[in-house]
Formats: sequence, structure tokens, C-alpha cells
Amino acid sequence: MPINKAAYLQIKSGCDAAGVTLVAVSKLKPNEDILALYNLGQRDFGENYVQELMAKYEALPKDIRWHFIGHLQSNKVKYIAQFVHLIHGVDSEKLLVAINKEAKKNGRVIDCLLQIHIAQEATKFGMDEHELSVVIGSSGEYVNVHVCGLMGMGSFSDDDAVVTTEFKTLKELYKKAATTYGAPLTVLSMGMSGDYKIAIYQGSTMVRIGSLLFGARDPK
Ligand SMILES: *Cc1c(COP(=O)(O)O)cnc(C)c1O
Repeated sequence: MPINKAAYLQIKSGCDAAGVTLVAVSKLKPNEDILALYNLGQRDFGENYVQELMAKYEALPKDIRWHFIGHLQSNKVKYIAQFVHLIHGVDSEKLLVAINKEAKKNGRVIDCLLQIHIAQEATKFGMDEHELSVVIGSSGEYVNVHVCGLMGMGSFSDDDAVVTTEFKTLKELYKKAATTYGAPLTVLSMGMSGDYKIAIYQGSTMVRIGSLLFGARDPK
């Protein structure tokens, strides 16, 4: 399926105007679709699966900034540590330790976002406020990772009020992290195809948008 060029140009200019980074979520989409967006100037792409990301990294232009936005297992960090631009879904100290180790092997400092559980659904990954404070508190020990922000996913709800409240909560934690834990955070990754406008309104600095740009995905 071709990409939706009109939607891309519109969303991209909206993000630019708001100072928000647009990550085009290309999971399960072919390289030709990624290249079509690349040729329009897009450089930030998000992927959820390690094997798929490795194959795309090999095949596609090297100036693409690859964001890992899925659930990352500690034992798979080694496959992406050499090139990944930003890891969005860090939800445990164990994973942070693994990223630090692999980053060090590659002589890199890898930027990471801590994933916070904000949605009502019990199935979504992420830390609560207490875990956040613990992990942020110890993150300074890991010199090859740079915790530069937070990431969260809103509920899959038609009720804008629910999602608004969740994004407000995340924004508050983001601000609080700077004052309470003295962590200079600069990235707040929140907002997807269904809720990115609400997210930007609530102070997101980075949105992750897939289906509006690439069309619906077939199940994996
Ligand atoms: C798939 C995915 C997205 C993009 O979802 P769309 O609804 O297609 O925009 C964003 N963030 C994460 C973490 C995802 O897994």
C-alpha cells in the first residue's frame, strides 16, 4: 500500500510548527514505503521488532535515525546497540544495565526514555512513579546510557477526557523529574495516530505515528 503523502505533509508541518519531533512508525511496513517517506525528507523512523530493525538498518540509508519503540528484551540489546538512535521503552533497571553494557562495548552513549505506565489497560508495559524515582536516581551510575526523557502510551479509548488525563499525568511526572530528581529531561514521547493532537496539546515533544502515514498494518 502506498504511503499517505498528504497526511504526512500535513502532520509534519503541524509538528514542525509545534516544535515536536515526528517519528514515523514503520513496523511491519516494507522498505519501499520507508524510502518514499525518506525521499520526502523524513529521517526519524520507529520500529518495534529487533530482527526487523536489523534488516532495515542494513538495507536502508545510513542517515536514518532509528528509534526502538517496542518492548526490548535485555538479551537482544546487543543487536541494535551499534546504531540505535533512541530507545523509547526502557521499563526496568535490568534493561538499563544491559543497554549500558552494550553501549560501552560499542564506545557509545545511548539515549534512552523511561517508559511510564499511564493507561488504564493492565497489559501495557511501563513503570509507576516509584519505580521511576528509583531508576532515575541510579541512572547516573550508568555512564554509557543517557536518560533524556519519558515515554508513555495512552489508553485505546474514544474518550478524549481519559487520554487527556493520562497525558497530563505523564507531563507532570516529566516536569517533576527535573525538579525532584534533578534530571535534565528534554524528550517527552507521547502521542500516536489516534491521539497525537491531544498529546501535542498536553506538551508532547515527540510523537510516534504509524497508521496515519503508512496505512493500517496487517497483524504480525
Ligand atoms: C505501533 C506503535 C505506534 C504507532 O501506532 P499508530 O497507531 O499506527 O500510529 C506508536 N508507539 C508505539 C509504542 C507503537 O508500538
